[in-house]
Amino acid sequence: MSWDHRFLEYEFGLGHPFTERSRRLAVSLLLAAGFFAPTEGGRSLKAECPLATREELLRFHAPAYLDELEEVSASGERRFLDSGDTPSFPGCYEAAARIAGATIEAGRAVLAAPALHALQPSGGLHHAASARASGFCILNDVACAIADALAKGVDRVAYVDLDVHHGDGVMYGFYDEGRVLDLDVHQDGRTLWPGTGDTSETGTGDGAGLKVNVPLSPGADDRALLRTVDAVFLPRLRAFHPRLIVLQTGVDGCRGDPLAALEYSVGGYRVAVGLVHRVAHEVGASLLETGGGGYVAANVSRALAGAAAELAGGSWRTSTTGTVPADWQADFTGVTGERAPSGWIEGRLPEVPTQADSRTERLLARVKAA
Ligand SMILES: [Zn+2]
Ligand SMILES: [Zn+2]
Repeated sequence: MSWDHRFLEYEFGLGHPFTERSRRLAVSLLLAAGFFAPTEGGRSLKAECPLATREELLRFHAPAYLDELEEVSASGERRFLDSGDTPSFPGCYEAAARIAGATIEAGRAVLAAPALHALQPSGGLHHAASARASGFCILNDVACAIADALAKGVDRVAYVDLDVHHGDGVMYGFYDEGRVLDLDVHQDGRTLWPGTGDTSETGTGDGAGLKVNVPLSPGADDRALLRTVDAVFLPRLRAFHPRLIVLQTGVDGCRGDPLAALEYSVGGYRVAVGLVHRVAHEVGASLLETGGGGYVAANVSRALAGAAAELAGGSWRTSTTGTVPADWQADFTGVTGERAPSGWIEGRLPEVPTQADSRTERLLARVKAA
């Protein structure tokens, strides 16, 4: 698991909804639960992550954009890097390149040791395009990690995106790429920014048929999420047989997120991660999970920590469904000023349904036919 304290430098300033502090709380929850204790063996917290080099960033990003970013970062000038969501700040180039460097490094680590999994909670900045920032994403760390794997000769990479927003930067970045399968479930673009990700968008050229969009209606819950992953994503993963799976787990699809209107639960995310995890083993793929969006600290911290427990398997899966450690609750309240949640999840983990609501079932039939 990657956690470099300098990830906290990726901060847009007071009042901006995106904050790395929620991701830090995922790490502190795992630490409080003893997840990285020496007796646990094998699991490690990578506390020093490198900056992505210019060469690594150029595998996805345009040189003129990197120049512009370096300039504004060094000058300390404050302006929007996109149409109004993503402001620059002093050192923004280094802050974004640190997150990208960690994701690229984690991708290489799991490719070198397929039995291990990696979680980069600060990664998943899936909106940034080759030549522009977008939606709180300055550099697209997941796209850079995918491009890095391709450049190193990995011939099949699957990208799975659970964030409530369409992962447009990644999907369009590899839209005609036959070596990248892109599976993306999100809130319907007619009801949520960035407005893309319709079922009809399936890729072009070598990538034709390899881009899959499931736009769920507002109010869709765990049943819709789990049914999508189980009935649509898993068969596509099995058929594609990827060598690397990059799983973006934005947590903004959770009920109560201020930026969107889906109603997944923290436990639902966990079960969805578990489904992808099992298929990764089944097809022998390396697995890199990242965070993504998420604007409720209690959801982001618990969902990402829970995902780590899910990837660890064994007793961690069951021991992390009860109450959270009291010292973590104190940390949570200290950081957020909010009352801490008492449990890892609310209630019980949901079952994977054999059927969702009829609206979702009709949508999934349309996706399969596209
Ligand atoms: Zn999002
Ligand atoms: Zn595993």
